[in-house]
This record gives sequence, structure tokens and C-alpha cells, in this order.
Amino acid sequence: MQKAGKKVQHRSSADNEKRISSGANRNIAQNHNAVKAIPDSASYEEFSTAFAGILMSSGLSCYSSDEYAKVFYKLYCDLLVENSKHNLTAVTEYKKVILLHFADSLLAAEHIPRNSTVLDVGAGAGFPTFPLAIVRPDITVTAIDATAKKTGWIASETAVLGLANIKTINGRIEELSGPGGALRGVFDVTVARAVASLGILSEICAPSVKLGGLFIAMKGDSSSNECASMDKSLPLLGIKHSDTIIKRISEAPESELFTRNILVFEKIAKTDMKYPRMYSQIKKAPLF
Ligand code: SAM
Repeated sequence: MQKAGKKVQHRSSADNEKRISSGANRNIAQNHNAVKAIPDSASYEEFSTAFAGILMSSGLSCYSSDEYAKVFYKLYCDLLVENSKHNLTAVTEYKKVILLHFADSLLAAEHIPRNSTVLDVGAGAGFPTFPLAIVRPDITVTAIDATAKKTGWIASETAVLGLANIKTINGRIEELSGPGGALRGVFDVTVARAVASLGILSEICAPSVKLGGLFIAMKGDSSSNECASMDKSLPLLGIKHSDTIIKRISEAPESELFTRNILVFEKIAKTDMKYPRMYSQIKKAPLF
């Protein structure tokens, strides 16, 4: 792994785009047939136009190619079909899926050091797991979620998309990252989006990060309130707040801007053996 830095200069390579789009490319008509019956589903033309526009107005134009659009369209179609059978996400309108799932997840991509092993805690329907794995073939993403139908969906869609860099674990992170646990101190980067307040999230995520690695919390606009009282507690977890990167995503240049905070913590010492506690205790008395 490259030394943990503030920002990785990462450009999506043409080879990666071609590699991942080859399957999706052949099946665009088939993909659309599968979602036609779902109200308001988008054609590839509608989707790809919105995809390019949203990524460009969200500072993510390096991922806006047609090759990536084909893969993300396949993911969108499969997500809609799966969601009609098993509820995975409340976000289904195509521009919202692109903005709030795809673009939002991609905001973390440039902050993950090269060749990292990444743990996505509470991956849900696969965010940020899928977007990160698609644009960063050099990293391996392990998606953990407490709900079996979610990790089942991620595993099957990983195979459909032909991605070789996603693994799944069905379980609770705090039960697998205690002292001696299989997930304690093993990942270069642990990332989480929309899982819990920062006080809870830090305790369940920091133990899985190896020394010198990073915990990246993908938060909304209000995270500065959550950070106010964290300084006393972070040493117990062995982490130090090193950066908050403020990003803005939007559907179009003149549209509403959504502010996102990418909070980066460095693992500077081992986590105290007392942590993580059982989830009921964490929830009852968060560290901050
Ligand atoms: N990260 C996804 C996203 O941004 O769309 C999903 C967010 S969803 C609101 C939160 C997910 O975290 C749920 O799927 C839930 O099962 C999972 N989760 C919550 N606490 C967890 C824990 N302690 N261990 C593993 N998964 C957990």
C-alpha cells in the first residue's frame, strides 16, 4: 500500500473503463428491457446524459466516461429490479440514484491510498462499495452488513458485473472486530456512509483499521456538530482526526448543492482492548 496520504492522484485508466464495461456494453438493450416494467425507469440515453452532467457538476468528471456510464447503468437497472422484490433503498429515481448513491460514493475515491484493502461498514445496498470498486480496480473492498439480504445482493451483483475486487461479510462489525476478532486491525482503510452518528461510528469502525491506516467517515452537512466533543475520546480508539474535506454535489450547475464532509482519521495507536463495546452499550452511552 502507498503511504496514507491526504489525497491520491488517481485517474481512471482507459484500460479499466474498457475492462469493466465489456459485459455491460453488450447488454444495454437487455438491461433496459429488464426495467421497462418499473415505473419511471430511465432508458440508457436518459441515464447516460444525466450521469455525465451530474458527475461534471459534482467535481467528478474523471469518472464521467461512456464506459463507466454503461457499468453504472447496469448497476442501476439491477438495483431497480432487486428493489422491486426486496426493499434495499428508498432512492430509485434515476437522477437521485446517480447523485445520492453513485456520485456521493465516488467522493471518497481519491482519498483511498493505492492498493488498499478497504472495509465498507454497513454497506447496505452497496454504497460506497460498488462505485469505489468500479473506478478503483487496484483496491479490494470488503462490504460488511448486518442484514443478510443486503450482503446477498452485493455478492450476486458483484458476480453479474464481473468485479473481482469485492468481498462480502454478513455480520455485525462490533462482534467481529473485538480483541482477537477476525476483522481487528486488518484493513488499510475503513469507510462508512449513512450508518450512525460519529460517536457510534468511530467506535465500531476504528478497531478494524491497521496501524498507519485510515478511517474515512462520509457524512452530510451537519457533521461539525458531531465533531465538537470528539477529541477526548479518539485516543481511546487509537485514532486522530487529520482532515475534513468539504465537497459539494449537484444535479446540474444551477441546481441545489448538497454539502458533504469527508472526515479522515489516522490510526496512530492500537485501539484500547475495551473497544468496541456491545452495540447496546455503545448506543446507550456513545463515546461522544
Ligand atoms: N452505507 C449504505 C448507504 O450509504 O447507502 C447503507 C446505509 S443504511 C442506512 C445502514 C446500513 O448499516 C444498514 O444496511 C444496516 O444493516 C447496517 N448496519 C448498521 N449497524 C451495523 C453494524 N453494527 N454492523 C454491520 N452493519 C450495520
